[in-house]
Amino acid sequence: MTSDRDRCERCGRCCCLKMILDSEVVYLPFHCGHFDPATRLCTVYDRRFEANPHCLTVEEGIELGVFPADCPYVRDLPDYAPPRTECTREELELYLEHTDPAGDAS
Ligand code: SF4
Ligand code: SF4
Repeated sequence: MTSDRDRCERCGRCCCLKMILDSEVVYLPFHCGHFDPATRLCTVYDRRFEANPHCLTVEEGIELGVFPADCPYVRDLPDYAPPRTECTREELELYLEHTDPAGDAS
């Protein structure tokens, strides 16, 4: 997700799939298919925007509010609205009804 890896702490949370519900970004319990859980890194980092058209730049991610509150990219931004990092069972079922969780959405 980052264009400047120096500030990233490699937690991998921003590479979770997400949905937007009533303008709120909500994390799903799945990672992007290009995320390697062993290294917690993107396996296609140099061509991530080509490999995953839903992958966001840091600037886009800040604007949309996809970084968790303690991420170094946003934790010092006073007006930043972080995502909800857990979805309900009902929200997850709604997502699974309409989407393939193996897809590239991020
Ligand atoms: S392509 Fe997927 S794993 Fe790679 S940075 Fe984007 S969201 Fe993360
Ligand atoms: S949430 Fe922040 S620290 Fe964690 S992987 Fe994403 S950019 Fe890096």
